[in-house]
Amino acid sequence: MTLPRPRAELLALTPYGSGRPADAAPPRHRLSSNESPFPPSDAVVAAAGRALHDVHRYPALVGEPLIDALAARHGRGRDEIAVASGSVALIEQLVRAYAGPGDEVLMPWRSYEAYPLIIAGASAREVAAPLTAAQGIDVDALLARLTPRTRVLLLCNPNNPTGEALGTAALDALIERVPRSVLIVLDEAYREFVTRADVPDGAERYRGHANVAVLRTFSKAYSLAGLRVGWCVAPAPLVDGLRRVAPPFPVSGPALAAAMAALAEDGLLATRMAALVGERRHLVRGLAELGLPVGDPQANFVWLPLGERAAACAAAFLAAGIGVRSFPGEGVRITVGDAGDTQAVLRAAAAWCDTERTPR
Ligand SMILES: *Cc1c(COP(=O)(O)O)cnc(C)c1O
Repeated sequence: MTLPRPRAELLALTPYGSGRPADAAPPRHRLSSNESPFPPSDAVVAAAGRALHDVHRYPALVGEPLIDALAARHGRGRDEIAVASGSVALIEQLVRAYAGPGDEVLMPWRSYEAYPLIIAGASAREVAAPLTAAQGIDVDALLARLTPRTRVLLLCNPNNPTGEALGTAALDALIERVPRSVLIVLDEAYREFVTRADVPDGAERYRGHANVAVLRTFSKAYSLAGLRVGWCVAPAPLVDGLRRVAPPFPVSGPALAAAMAALAEDGLLATRMAALVGERRHLVRGLAELGLPVGDPQANFVWLPLGERAAACAAAFLAAGIGVRSFPGEGVRITVGDAGDTQAVLRAAAAWCDTERTPR
């Protein structure tokens, strides 16, 4: 008798993971998952705690209180916003709702590692367009891969893991040239960390575009990765489409309460983003001075496209107590943390560069 087997195309995929064994002790500097170095504020923790008293009840059916708060803040209707257990759930819902077996989902690659898993999960066909030499999204390469079967374009801006961002002119050009029949999922998980003036806020710029859905998350800038809350803003018909595959009660009561409390802390967010961006600048400058190929990262991580040297570099960081994300053969992604993290990274990077220069 044969035992249950997952679909063959799923067995071929690389599972999502940090690259470390699950039972390994966490390194002293946890810089592999783009988490915030700042814990949630006392007010956020208190709001989540109060909501725990009600967890014998189901939470809001589609997350109404948070939807209303986001709608008010961004001047949208409640039918233009969806929330879910992390924005990764929204990506999955959009892909499943808009692409079926044999349909093509286009994306730049390398990009967010969850995308191929989600595409395969929907039995859709993944079409990957290479990045530019500077590790950015290549608009022409994407346009060249559109076919009549393209249903969805997954676009991460700034891109994870390279940190490079498309500016307004390039993004406008891409969005204008993609047929209206193709759903563009603009994943702005790192929008709050952008400092380049020419990188648009996609939620504002592309409002009214009938085929653009913008995703945001509370996991990164808002320090709530562990509670799993993401949101989508899109024209009402697109939100209606994703709701057709969304599970009921997508966000727990404590998570809803925490997200609403975090959303109200504008001052704290600004302070934290300024500190984070300062650390990023420090890290970029220090790595560049070592001769490492750091670009112009616009998210809360830096990317070193080291190619064949990537795995050795990541191993050297780990030996120094620093967990980074290794993409063997491609590069190393290092999350920006606090000042102590920056110092540790720069010290370990300098030591690794020294051993690289020493002939063996
Ligand atoms: C971290 C990240 C997300 C957010 O995931 P959540 O499910 O909201 O925690 C989405 N997209 C990209 C590209 C990311 O890096």
